[in-house]
Amino acid sequence: MPATILDGKALATAIEAELAEEVADFVQNNAHEPALAAVLVGDDPASSIYVKNKRAACERVGMESRLVRLPDTATEEELLQVVAELNNDDAVHGILVQLPLPPQIREQKVLDAVHPLKDVDCFHPENVGRLVQGRPRYLPCTPHGCLQILHRSGISVAGKHAVVVGRSEIVGKPLATLLAQKESHLGPGACNATVTLCHSRTRDLAALCRQADVLFAAIGKPKFVTGEMIKPGAVIVDVGINRTDAGVVGDVDFAAAKEIASAITPVPRGVGPMTIVMLLYNTLSAARAQLA
Ligand code: NDP
Repeated sequence: MPATILDGKALATAIEAELAEEVADFVQNNAHEPALAAVLVGDDPASSIYVKNKRAACERVGMESRLVRLPDTATEEELLQVVAELNNDDAVHGILVQLPLPPQIREQKVLDAVHPLKDVDCFHPENVGRLVQGRPRYLPCTPHGCLQILHRSGISVAGKHAVVVGRSEIVGKPLATLLAQKESHLGPGACNATVTLCHSRTRDLAALCRQADVLFAAIGKPKFVTGEMIKPGAVIVDVGINRTDAGVVGDVDFAAAKEIASAITPVPRGVGPMTIVMLLYNTLSAARAQLA
């Protein structure tokens, strides 16, 4: 039987509707909107599209969205100055510095400069530390989006073997951390997995993937996970976004995988829309935290 398609777009739309109600309540009680400031350096087309989509999503749920643009010749000092101004601006609750940054700017330096309470991407070391210790302030957007898709589709990861391919700071590593936690705000089924974290130095990756009850692909290589790497009945979450001549494809060979898996996220309309809505979720949390 072909796999159930886990429609991230539909779930994201449902979560947006929930958030819109919560934002309306917030505005009624506080007389101002939660506000997200996006900082875009240069005019990389993919980054511009990501920022445009994030801003449009803010507006759909009634949040304020600001955009600060700098040329790709901007210096690190200029960008740090922008971040400092946004940190000090009480009307801004969340700050998003769109990556990648031009080579003359050290990403780490800039991300470390974002105030931890406004760090809605959850990149600041204080927030990463809290996450690892199981007392998160914010959840990183893409990993949280993956967990929400499973949770809202009635799929538990507890006690299961979760294999995560990719160990980036943005996706793979925090996703593995969340899966292995003892507690989750989504309940015990959204954590308590037995986790294997794979990367480019992993030996016999295919054999490990074949052991996965739930397989997460965050590699950045089109159709890298083939049908032979999937256990019959496994759940597949494809984080990859790869622009090819044939359009946007994931890290999983979707056509092959859907005949073997029990459930799978598509690309597009999978994890991508969930990532954006989790950014809105964090912005609302940030606005609430800054009132306290
Ligand atoms: P990175 O390039 O930062 O990390 C890729 C990871 O894949 C690395 O850990 C790397 O290993 C591993 N890897 C690369 N080649 C292999 C291989 N042959 N075998 C096993 N592991 C391998 O990517 P990101 O985590 O930032 O992104 C991954 C994908 O997810 C991309 O397609 C990106 O566009 C997409 N993405 C999607 C988002 C969404 O909202 N849906 C959000 C963010 C990213 P090593 O560490 O050893 O180099």
